[in-house]
Parts: sequence; C-alpha cells; structure tokens
Amino acid sequence: MNDLAGPIAENLARVRSRIEAAAKRSGRPAESVTLVAVTKYASVEMAAAAVAAGCHDLGESRPQELWAKAAALAEADVRWHLVGHLQRNKVRRTLPLVHLIQSVDSERLLTAIDDEAAALGRRIDVLVEVNISFDAAKTGVAPDALESLLERAASLDHVRVRGLMGMASLEGDAEAARRDFAALRLLCDRLSSRVAPSVSLSELSMGMSGDFEQAIEEGATIVRLGSVLFEGLEADE
Ligand SMILES: *Cc1c(COP(=O)(O)O)cnc(C)c1O
Repeated sequence: MNDLAGPIAENLARVRSRIEAAAKRSGRPAESVTLVAVTKYASVEMAAAAVAAGCHDLGESRPQELWAKAAALAEADVRWHLVGHLQRNKVRRTLPLVHLIQSVDSERLLTAIDDEAAALGRRIDVLVEVNISFDAAKTGVAPDALESLLERAASLDHVRVRGLMGMASLEGDAEAARRDFAALRLLCDRLSSRVAPSVSLSELSMGMSGDFEQAIEEGATIVRLGSVLFEGLEADE
C-alpha cells in the first residue's frame, strides 16, 4: 500500500486538474463534476489508496466484485456506484451496499429494485443507462424507449431516478465520443421538461479515461475513470 499511495495520489491530482480545466471550459466549477474511481482493474489495496487520497466515490462494473470490495473496505468512507449490468437475482445483495446504481437498463430491473428497496425500507437512487451509440453490442435502454421507462419510474415509491448514464461507441476517437455525449445531453434536456416531478434528470454520467474531458465539455456531472487512475500500477499480490 505504501508503494501505491504515492502514485495513486499523483494520478488523482493530475486527473482532478484535467477535470477542473474541462469544467472551466464548459463554464462550470470543478465541484459540479463527481469523479467515480472505477476499481475493476484495481486491487483492494489500490482502491483503499484512492480513498486515502480523497476519492470517496468508487465504482464497480460487476456486482460480485462490488460485494467483495465493499466488504474488504467496510471501515472506509466509500460511496459505492454500480456501473455495470445488474442481474435481478443480485439486486437483494447489492442494494444495502450502494449509493447509486448507474446502470438501470430495463423496466423489469427497475421494478425488481423497487420491490427489494421497499422490503429494506429504503429509497434507492438510480441512473437509467441509455444506449446512445446505437451499438447493438452495448447495453442500455434504446433512446425511444426512455420516456416510457421514466414514466414507469415515476410510479414507483422506492426507486428515485436522478439522471442518465451513457457510454460512447467502442469505435471512434474522442471527438466521435463527443457526438454521442452531445446526443445524450440533448435527449436529457428534451425529456427534463416532460418527466414527472418525482423523476430528476439532473445527473449525467458520461466519460471514461479516454474521453472524459469531451464528456465534461458536453455537460457530464459524473465521470467514471479506471485506467487513467490505476493503469500500470502493480496489483499488490
Ligand atoms: C470499466 C468501466 C469504466 C472505466 O473505464 P476506463 O476506460 O478504464 O476509465 C467506466 N464505466 C464503465 C461502465 C466501465 O465498465
């Protein structure tokens, strides 16, 4: 951990200054962008080093990995984000651990989360993942199915939609990604005035290591960063 703490703190500082500059270019303060450190390529020790360096939002793409890291870091001050697909049979075990589920991609999952959250006596914050890239291999709700999903969400008492999440196409460069992000932002703005008051679209989670500056310039309020923070650092085992 001592070997990792320095490099991870440096990576984090470098990334934070890039976030601040991109936010400035979009006319916003740095605090309007939340950095979620995605730890799927990181060991528990590396994740702990990120928390020690001041990053309290951590993300995992696989529920089982989130469970394991959340248990290992139970004493740390962490807000866990699930950023990958959630199977309905993993909802029950995941809900008590998460701050935000960023990857709701179907009405069935939304309903399953609502049921389990009701049983826990909690209200769970979620983002709806939108397939902005029209890439058949990508997960997410099709843009033309989004409005009806949001209407359904408005009728549920134990799940609260806070915004949208999207990923850029796999192919293409950061400027191609920018077009996907701009499209998601436009969709979000268009629906904002139409959704029920219990649904909020104020959060826009978009941007990964290769394209987060473009995402922020196009309005991201959450960026999900893994490799730019952890790549090249040896796992501690
Ligand atoms: C892995 C992952 C990230 C982070 O990707 P990097 O390119 O390593 O920054 C972000 N979002 C999701 C959904 C991921 O699965």
